[in-house]
Amino acid sequence: MEHPLKIYNTLTRRLEQFIPLHSPFVGLYVCGPTVYGDPHLGHARPAIVFDVLFRYLSYLDYKVRYVRNITDVGHLESDADHGEDKIAKKARLEQLEPMEVVQYYTVRYHYFMDKLNVKRPSIEPHASGHIIEQQEWVQKMIENGYAYEVNGSVYFDVEKYSQRFNYGKLSGRKIEELYATTRELEGQEEKKNPFDFALWKKAAPEHIMRWRSPWGEGFPGWHLECSVMSTKYLGEVFDIHGGGMDLLFPHHECEIAQSVATLGKESVRYWMHNNLITINGQKMGKSLGNFITLEEIFNGTNKLLTKAFHPMVIRFFILQAHYRSTLDFSNEALLAAEKGYYRLMDAYFLLNKIRPTVANSSLNLKEIEQKCFEALNEDLNTPIVLAQFFELVKIINSANQGSINFSEDDIAFIKKMYNTFIFEILGLMPIEDKTNNELLEKVVDIIIEERLIARNKKDFETSDRIRTKLNEVGIEIKDTKNGTEWKIVS
Ligand code: ZN
Repeated sequence: MEHPLKIYNTLTRRLEQFIPLHSPFVGLYVCGPTVYGDPHLGHARPAIVFDVLFRYLSYLDYKVRYVRNITDVGHLESDADHGEDKIAKKARLEQLEPMEVVQYYTVRYHYFMDKLNVKRPSIEPHASGHIIEQQEWVQKMIENGYAYEVNGSVYFDVEKYSQRFNYGKLSGRKIEELYATTRELEGQEEKKNPFDFALWKKAAPEHIMRWRSPWGEGFPGWHLECSVMSTKYLGEVFDIHGGGMDLLFPHHECEIAQSVATLGKESVRYWMHNNLITINGQKMGKSLGNFITLEEIFNGTNKLLTKAFHPMVIRFFILQAHYRSTLDFSNEALLAAEKGYYRLMDAYFLLNKIRPTVANSSLNLKEIEQKCFEALNEDLNTPIVLAQFFELVKIINSANQGSINFSEDDIAFIKKMYNTFIFEILGLMPIEDKTNNELLEKVVDIIIEERLIARNKKDFETSDRIRTKLNEVGIEIKDTKNGTEWKIVS
């Protein structure tokens, strides 16, 4: 099966035709969350970007096996090979079992991803459930001469590997630069070189997450789990590996080295990386005071926001940028996205009210559909798809005002386009503008109260005029023994 989808491969730095070897089967692996804290804005972008890829490949009739891991061991505080395990630290601080922390935040992660309409992957393996397989890889790397054991820990020998292979091929880093830029860190003296990375770490006495191994009690290094679990479920060589750009180095660079050192070949055909989200132009970080969780966005409790935003507005906001561009998050940007999202949805709901006025179509809607497919095929260019839909919104609004004529086929075709692109592939959901409805409710309540005041003063002329005027705009009011009720009748 061949189709025109092209994706940008980080490894070759080129836009490439996507042709899976075992078509129609596609293996997709994406680095999932480390579950030690509440899901935040940084979790939303990779989840949504690769959800759209998953949805589009499925739409193209591929059978996709989508694996996204749960990191529940080995991710140390520093992202390097020292510091406390993030999950163990949380467990210690909150006096919980580490697996209680993992369970709690995995459930929270699913809850917020469901709200964002992110589909669940086919398999969601946990690192802690694959300790034996990780040990087998470590053993193999030692046997192949690319790893060495020191005091119960095992490290990857980057220098040795670099004599035959290109460590740095994904990130573009050079081994000579690594010598110059990697600092010696406390407790790292046992490594041959500071840029060697841990495959297995000896557990300190206070370390609670520990397993027996040929090298003593310890735990696996963070980079290893993704190499092991991706190939276990997708085969030694699979199609697409995705993740955020922050994972490019060292995490994904190390994954390539581990595959080559263990299996004798690279495992990934296409590497895809989404760019990062900045907040008001800055990197997000707890230390910068601009850290924002998804819960705070959905209920408007973060100081950076003036109100709550619907999860679909967040999804729309993320899809308005191409996945390889940076995306700046701000209250203003979300307000603009909210406006755009409801404009798109209002036009969709309007379609049900517009009646066809001509028998035969004179509109070239197929051209818009074509442009949407071309945009998706050109490296998942979702902002262009949305731009095409805003052209469509203009057409729908013109038809509603009577300056363009729709045939029955036109209306059906546009509905089909919404279903295909907006709902099925981009994964947005049809939601009516609640903010407008709430505003309307408040305004009508004020008017009805004024009418009541007039009636109580026996000013029936005013109260009747208010009733007639409301009726003219389609609001019917009824006086009952419980007070005045109203409803929209047209
Ligand atoms: Zn990973």
